[in-house]
Amino acid sequence: MRAHHRNLDENCVFCRIIEGKAPSFSVYENDSAIAFLDTFPIVPGHTLIMPKVHIADMTDVPGELLASVFDVAKLISRSFYSMGYTAVNYLVNERADAGQVIFHVHCHVIPRKPNDGIDLRMRRARLPGEEMERTASNIRTEILRTASQGMPEPDP
Ligand SMILES: [Zn+2]
Repeated sequence: MRAHHRNLDENCVFCRIIEGKAPSFSVYENDSAIAFLDTFPIVPGHTLIMPKVHIADMTDVPGELLASVFDVAKLISRSFYSMGYTAVNYLVNERADAGQVIFHVHCHVIPRKPNDGIDLRMRRARLPGEEMERTASNIRTEILRTASQGMPEPDP
């Protein structure tokens, strides 16, 4: 058993897959990340990539580990391209209100082709300049406040 398995949660289905205690259709695995097929795929090949550490939010994943996860996501995407897919969607849902269901951070990679019937685009609208500036200003202020408080990493 590898050292970082101490950071898994036995109540989490993704952690059980990482430990080999639950079944999955495995795609790729290295020391820090794992990739397997989504149980309820949007299209065949829809793959999930995640760190081998139980962390719920992408916001709390240390940058170096996040880079490892996305390196694997890129590997999967290149494989899709060489298989003839013409595009991919990368998708991360963070927390329940954004549609996260399993609270172990994961990135969806969804292989795409022209006219595949999938449309992830949403209805959008241009907003007045004043509202845009007020919104940007609020975010800038909060970034400064957050940065001044430091960006703590989760306990290992
Ligand atoms: Zn987990």
